Amino acid sequence: MTYNPDNIFAKILRAEIPNNTVYENDHVLVFDDITPQAAVHCLIIPKGAYTDQADFSARASDAEIIAFERAIATVVDIKGIGNDGYRAVCNTKENGRQEVPHYHMHILGGEKLPAMITG
Ligand code: AMP
Repeated sequence: MTYNPDNIFAKILRAEIPNNTVYENDHVLVFDDITPQAAVHCLIIPKGAYTDQADFSARASDAEIIAFERAIATVVDIKGIGNDGYRAVCNTKENGRQEVPHYHMHILGGEKLPAMITG
């Protein structure tokens, strides 16, 4: 999949549309999901142009990968969901029902979540 720079997260990174930033560093941006599916619902995205998790895993630098993984702990701490737990989800491509073609990880928590896959 070729990276499409017109995707909505690329526009957020270029500050063309607003976001509710939770955390940011040189490599990642974390912001609240606009349609939260739990009391806490954040998205972690790399600042680099990666289409999905496998693309990021294959092509990102060690520094980008470390920053992304560390951002998980940071957002969990900021949102105070470490003790009770949370869910991290990366929807990928068509079968994973990925809607935005810029790699992102959903962090969901703040309440007891429903079963992961229903129906
Ligand atoms: P996915 O289906 O994994 O690609 O999820 C994309 C997520 O992006 C959905 O949960 C949307 O609610 C979220 N989303 C779409 N547009 C925005 C936006 N402008 N700001 C924050 N979250 C967004």
